[in-house]
Amino acid sequence: MTKKRVLITGAAGFLGSHLCDRFIKEGFHVIGMDNLLTGNIKNIEHLFPLKEFEYFHHDVTKFVHVPGELDYILHFASPASPIDYLKMPIQTLKVGSLGTHNLLGLAKEKNARILVASTSEVYGDPNVHPQPEEYWGNVNPVGPRGVYDEAKRFMESITMAYHNFHGVDTRIIRIFNTYGPRMRLDDGRALPAFMSQALTGQDLTVFGDGSQTRSFCYVADLVEGIFRLLMSDYHMPVNIGNPAEITLLEFAEEIIKLTGTKQKIVFQPLPKDDPKQRKPDITKAKALLGWEPKVDRAEGLKITYEYFKQALGKA
Ligand code: NAD
Repeated sequence: MTKKRVLITGAAGFLGSHLCDRFIKEGFHVIGMDNLLTGNIKNIEHLFPLKEFEYFHHDVTKFVHVPGELDYILHFASPASPIDYLKMPIQTLKVGSLGTHNLLGLAKEKNARILVASTSEVYGDPNVHPQPEEYWGNVNPVGPRGVYDEAKRFMESITMAYHNFHGVDTRIIRIFNTYGPRMRLDDGRALPAFMSQALTGQDLTVFGDGSQTRSFCYVADLVEGIFRLLMSDYHMPVNIGNPAEITLLEFAEEIIKLTGTKQKIVFQPLPKDDPKQRKPDITKAKALLGWEPKVDRAEGLKITYEYFKQALGKA
């Protein structure tokens, strides 16, 4: 039997590389595409010897051509952490707009189903808590984070337009904070920052008073949610994330306990437009996909800590 063929953009990134692993495991032929803007080829090097895996070095904001048939496209290419998209605002806007346009065109040409990676950031600094998919969001288009939030909002919009006007088979996932092995230590997000500070003997930096909340989903849970959504027949946006909410101060304390560091917590001013609360309403994912997170934070953090220890040569 011929294998189903899937194109994964952002393949060398944190999430894209885990998706490549999962689709190989599921018996697919995987074509990974990346331009290594924020990714690391090491994340997928282990797949290079496999005949079921191909890698195309390509910038998806340029015309995308893939020889042969395609059954599925997963569009995950985009700078994703604030540190990256604040440094690369234009690339971020281009990959969400031109990149998504190119991939929707490819999906139309190949008659492939396409899933696009949107984000909880489309809710901005939400006035509704937790955030259901029906909430329209509270985004500052001209604030520093606007480049990412609006790129993703445009991505959702053009994806729906291709669905409605060209009949393209589309899926939209709104991903909430995800963590796990292959996150970059220097991506500026709280979890890698706290862990690298703990591992290198620096105090843990909490922004503001640390009362802002986040919820963290372990990467294997997210990948399961993506797989189920792709295989479903639902084309409206679906939240995937872990609703277990924690303040950043409590989170820093958890990391201190886990790592056994003697460092303390220090406070710094809150960055502009930093959301105060973030927690997914996953009613839809539960009902439509039978999905809910399985890995609790203690377990996920332990695995991630082992990964970071290795990455820093402290194992
Ligand atoms: P990442 O930075 O690790 O991976 C993104 C990948 O996309 C990188 O390998 C990068 O080189 C590649 N890329 C960027 N621009 C490109 C371009 N023009 N052409 C080809 N490749 C390009 O980020 P991630 O955390 O793996 O995020 C993956 C996707 O998931 C992103 O679209 C992001 O917006 C979305 N997302 C992630 C999270 C999260 O918690 N990690 C949350 C919400 C949404």
